Amino acid sequence: MKKIALMGSTGSIGTQTLDVVRKYPEKLEIFALSVGSDIDLLYKQIKEFSPKVVGVANPQKAKQLQKKVDIEVLTGENMLEEIAGMEGYDTFVSATVGLTIIRATLEAIKNKKSVALANKETLVAAGEIVMREAKANGVQIMPIDSEHSALFQCLNGENKKNIKSLIVTCSGGALRDYTKEELKNVSIEDALGHKTWQMGKKITIDSATLMNKGFEVIEAMHLYDVSPKNIQVVIHKESIIHSMVEYCDNSIIAQISEPDMRLPIQYALSYPDRWEASIKRHNFNTSYTFKEPDLDRFPCLSYAFRAMEIGGTMPAVMNTANDVMVDKFLLGKCTYLDIPKIIKQVMDEHKAVINPTLDDIEKAINETTDKVEKLFE
Ligand code: MG
Repeated sequence: MKKIALMGSTGSIGTQTLDVVRKYPEKLEIFALSVGSDIDLLYKQIKEFSPKVVGVANPQKAKQLQKKVDIEVLTGENMLEEIAGMEGYDTFVSATVGLTIIRATLEAIKNKKSVALANKETLVAAGEIVMREAKANGVQIMPIDSEHSALFQCLNGENKKNIKSLIVTCSGGALRDYTKEELKNVSIEDALGHKTWQMGKKITIDSATLMNKGFEVIEAMHLYDVSPKNIQVVIHKESIIHSMVEYCDNSIIAQISEPDMRLPIQYALSYPDRWEASIKRHNFNTSYTFKEPDLDRFPCLSYAFRAMEIGGTMPAVMNTANDVMVDKFLLGKCTYLDIPKIIKQVMDEHKAVINPTLDDIEKAINETTDKVEKLFE
């Protein structure tokens, strides 16, 4: 029985993780759940999964929930870290956002727990630190993302020195076929109209700008310890081939399945074993297409490569500028094209700290947030 601490249990990845737990009651058990503020859904989850402890980031909501349940409801700034540092669980599932999840994930690693990672900031902002700690503590980081799970599967049993290229596939996002002119007048609804994957709003916008692919490329570099020049992106709008690895003999191995996040979630929890499917079987009565990404229309992807080459605090700064800008876009306070424009401007002005500590990274994040927020005052 694998005991799970699931951080971010009411989000898109969180609820799908619980789908997998529901399917395997004899293999998986919930030890802890945490949410930001959605205590109504958390209450239902407590009734169904009987966790030993829960965390609610919002202190008022935590108090309200505590009145209704017998188990301990943690809250406060260090809530996630507190849960991560507990005994009594095996796998830490990071499916929430924010800076505190990075500290909590590091705590879980020091606590020698397996980590199933869905949160992107962790490796984008602090990849060097997190991977160093994981290595030092002998902790396996299992990716919960279709692309990284695919790469993991394509790399299984291979010798890393034979890798020629990690080929990360990309749906192209909701605006894939928009011309440069059309991109000027993109509405929030246009950008949210992603067909293939059901995801949260933030990541759907990141898919539309290809920033999400940029994050994934940075994560792939850290997870699989390859240099940026050995990673490429290919547009594959069907989202059936989830990524590929090309080896020195020019052989390419691909991972194929229906687009459904429950597979990477399940694999992250079942590895090194495989369990009966939670998802539909693939039907080959379809076609697959591939195209180069257009960096002129979608420059965010090239910014990610640049951030990766520079390293240090630069990816964290890029990520933060994007966070704030996507927020503004969703609030109707800026245009779609302002997102890449401001990210570029902020990156141009940032002098990266190389080999940063977590404090350096936090400082860069806070400064970037202030800087971008000021543009809207
Ligand atoms: Mg993905």
